[in-house]
Amino acid sequence: MGKSIQLGKIFGIPFRLDYSWFLIFIFITVLLSLSVFPSGYDWSTGYYWLVGIATSLLFFASVVAHELAHSLVGRREGIPAKSITLFFFGGIAHIGKEASRPTTELRMAAAGPLCSIALAGIFYGISLLSSGNEYVAALTGWLAFINGILAIFNMIPGFPLDGGRVLRSIIWLVTGNYMRATRIATMSGYGVSYLLILGGIIILILMGWLDGLWFIFLGFFLYSAARMTYRQTTLRESLKGFTAQDVMTRDFPRVPRHLTIMELVNGTLLTTSSQCFLVTDGERVVGSLTMQQVKEVHREYWDLTTTGQAMTPVENLKMVQPSDEALSILERMDEENLELVAVVREGRLIGMIPRDDLIRFSQRLRELKM
Ligand SMILES: [Zn+2]
Repeated sequence: MGKSIQLGKIFGIPFRLDYSWFLIFIFITVLLSLSVFPSGYDWSTGYYWLVGIATSLLFFASVVAHELAHSLVGRREGIPAKSITLFFFGGIAHIGKEASRPTTELRMAAAGPLCSIALAGIFYGISLLSSGNEYVAALTGWLAFINGILAIFNMIPGFPLDGGRVLRSIIWLVTGNYMRATRIATMSGYGVSYLLILGGIIILILMGWLDGLWFIFLGFFLYSAARMTYRQTTLRESLKGFTAQDVMTRDFPRVPRHLTIMELVNGTLLTTSSQCFLVTDGERVVGSLTMQQVKEVHREYWDLTTTGQAMTPVENLKMVQPSDEALSILERMDEENLELVAVVREGRLIGMIPRDDLIRFSQRLRELKM
């Protein structure tokens, strides 16, 4: 996803707008004001736009309500959402970790579509009661329809759509096997995306509708989402049961703090496969230097900059305990955007965990099916 702006917080959850959202907001407003409302009602141009903008805003409020439903149920189950973002395809609630029980996932996944169904019912009720006011009737009528579509689309059993998550939780509940449930749900996600793409192509060729493109687009989007979610799940799953001690690297090349970057590059840097160096002052480790930090030093300053100047001092390194779970360390690194953590026992540095190494470690486990 691209860049986004934070608007504030709802129920304590940061609420963000992705830049791509503005495109879809304009698209829906134009669609409503130039096509949907003019085909059903005889108003002045100003009212088409006014009701169009209001309806569009309320539509996105409905999408936020859907995501909030997921997030608030998650929070009650001990899985807090980090943020809610509106983007091109709707909304997304960023949840830090996966549910540890099938019933938790079932409740969280079902909450969104249930909220959309409830909203559809409420808007439909208002539209029935407001027959005297065409503007309100048009607005609520369309919102009832679109919330219904939202609920139905999200309940398609293709992982990682809500319906796919419901499917996974049910298989998980029945079989007791989380990975098997994820595999089956992911297969259904692939299946649904193939159907969307195939359906899109058929619409495009047989009927010449541009709507076909929309389905193809959605199909590809769902496919890549399913693939990415599956990868993350297997990666996380493979790390279970391992601690910091198991995954850390103990023997990083050491470099004295007075060495210049130029000397480092000409010396050990090119021949080592290590992504990280320990910077020392005599026997003492005073900091760490990653490949990334070396790259950030401009070439013309290589002669003037020492490793001690480019490093992260020990006191600024994020520390973890040797017994900390590898999975929670990875989650923390993702959350805080960390490239490296130090493993410390009784105040003494005993190892380091670069993020890349942790990913490689779990990939190797997966290859060996351990
Ligand atoms: Zn949802």
